Amino acid sequence: SAAAPPVPRLPPFAGCAPTSVELLPRENGTILLLVREADLPQLLPTLRNFEHRFNARFRYPYVLLSAPDEPPFSAHFRAKIAEAVHPGATLEFGTVPREHWRIPDWLDEEEVRQGFAKQAAKGVQYGGREGYHHMCRFYSGLFARHELLQKYEWYWRLEPGVRFYCSVTYDPFRFLAQRNQTYGFVITLIDDLNTLPSLFPTVERYVQESGTVPTDMWDFFTRAKNGQKGYSASFPPLPFLLAAPCLSLLKLEGKYLPVNADRCHFWTNFEIGHLPFFRSQPYQDLFDALDRSGGFYTERWGDAPVRTIALGLLEGADKVHYFEDFAYRHDWFMHCPERKELGCECVPIPRLAGCVVLHVC
Ligand code: GDP
Ligand code: MN
Repeated sequence: SAAAPPVPRLPPFAGCAPTSVELLPRENGTILLLVREADLPQLLPTLRNFEHRFNARFRYPYVLLSAPDEPPFSAHFRAKIAEAVHPGATLEFGTVPREHWRIPDWLDEEEVRQGFAKQAAKGVQYGGREGYHHMCRFYSGLFARHELLQKYEWYWRLEPGVRFYCSVTYDPFRFLAQRNQTYGFVITLIDDLNTLPSLFPTVERYVQESGTVPTDMWDFFTRAKNGQKGYSASFPPLPFLLAAPCLSLLKLEGKYLPVNADRCHFWTNFEIGHLPFFRSQPYQDLFDALDRSGGFYTERWGDAPVRTIALGLLEGADKVHYFEDFAYRHDWFMHCPERKELGCECVPIPRLAGCVVLHVC
């Protein structure tokens, strides 16, 4: 692969940002966004913040994808994005292929659509939104097949509305690469059981039928299950707003693991991943098996629990990194470290495992 072009050192940021940063060498990574044109008002502040806190220095390219049932991004949208990021940023705009964004042939479309209404009536979060089902399926496996990602080895997923509250002073792609790791997360959340009642059993069946030999992390997941520490069909589904960050992130032999893979998951709206793993046969085979079972539509399986289960099954704890030092927020969930030197806009409240926002740079 071609060497990355030299990256000029930038002058220090004014205000909240740090001054020291390791710019070279870089990894073959991209910042990945799946967005709607209508997301623009939330997207612009997120991009400005992401640039300020990281990418104005590291200058990774962007891939922005739209759904095929929406018009391609307008010239206005593209111009606004270009204004929000560093001058000369590489921006690639693409569309998810139609066959990756529709109810698959092996399901009865009519029945599935009636099912969406039932899910909505039962209070399954986003269960009534067809686009959301497509999004979850896409990010669960199909994204890794997208043509615009083929030339990349790493992706960092970003979403409208996200904010970073401290500067990221090193290259997290490089950090993972040097440690030979596959995946990084910041926040774990507990999912509402009614979105995925049959996911874990489906995976267990797949493990048996495929003869997959699970990793140490898988052991841990099933131990949690057998101990009835939350994974249980009779566990009362939490209303979404009561779903709490998994404060029970367990440090086991120096590694952080989410308790209960099926419900407590790596929250994928922040994720950094190594694409060869997601493109690999074992990952794609698992995705295909889940996809064939229909659960992305007959239930509302999220990409986050699928991602977590796949990593637990196929990769193991050594391959997953908890970016404890990132201050990150999406919606009402936030993680904030104690890192004064990073010009953070927030401070942690340790006893509550919460955060307080001090100021916005
Ligand atoms: P939440 O974060 O799970 O509450 O859901 P979001 O509405 O933020 O959706 C997650 C991501 O997928 C965001 O980046 C959205 O822009 C994107 N997304 C969700 N649904 C659609 C859709 O129907 N079309 C497109 N193009 N993007 C979508
Ligand atoms: Mn979101």
